Amino acid sequence: MSEFKKPVIVLGPMLSESAYLISSLENVKERRSCGYTFYEGYIDGYPTVVCRCFIGVVNSAVAAALAAQLYSPLCIIIQGTSGAHDPELHQGDIVLGERLAELGSFITPRKGRGEGCGFFDRTVPEREVAGSAEPRNVTYLYGDSRITDIALSVPYSFGKVVKGTIGAADIWNRELDVIAHLHDTVGTSCEEMEGFGVAQVCRAADIPCADIRVISNSEWYPDEEFDQKYGEYCQMFVLEVIRRIIANGALL
Ligand code: SAH
Repeated sequence: MSEFKKPVIVLGPMLSESAYLISSLENVKERRSCGYTFYEGYIDGYPTVVCRCFIGVVNSAVAAALAAQLYSPLCIIIQGTSGAHDPELHQGDIVLGERLAELGSFITPRKGRGEGCGFFDRTVPEREVAGSAEPRNVTYLYGDSRITDIALSVPYSFGKVVKGTIGAADIWNRELDVIAHLHDTVGTSCEEMEGFGVAQVCRAADIPCADIRVISNSEWYPDEEFDQKYGEYCQMFVLEVIRRIIANGALL
């Protein structure tokens, strides 16, 4: 791998969210670090590293931190499947993470035995993030707008492509009242289990970050059950985004 160019890093949690990208690399070599495997190769001659980072905020943040240390990357892209919060979104649609939210960080009101669950009355504290960027305490983090703009120019035939807010936690919500509440109060377009963690690492290490998600399931529509084929559609889209990042040179 060229020592003079900062590689593009792309993370995919499951095999169905990373295999297509790994197979798209030229001259692949495997490198292991702390149990995570990084597939080093080239896309259009530019160094690109794909990591199957496993499911969850912790896994993806660890993989992002290792990538930051190992490669001083040009950018880190986390991508894969997600569940719709916005009823306007359907399977196949792509959400570009303009804004990222942590959905597992909240304080519930105090309630005694038999007083039920207070999720809807929770408060969401700000979170202190590492790094020198201001502000230090945040509720939201933001995807790199240059990557979002490049992604908006990519043709895509399996649905629409929109900018939005992507929520993350190691939680799979299937209750429509909860989904609607998060959509209304946090502004989420969709939910997944990695984005905010990767964005937090990128913010700390001052690396441009993008979260690109396909809708693979929507509780709003009973027939839109999780289907892993959407993970491949997302990777096809992301491959073209990477090609345009390289060709466009905006981040170089
Ligand atoms: N249900 C799948 C497993 C998916 S686990 C199966 O049985 O094979 C969750 C992974 O999918 C995470 O990486 C997460 O980012 C993504 N995901 C897709 N839809 C999701 C949803 N509705 N809520 C949370 N994560 C979701």
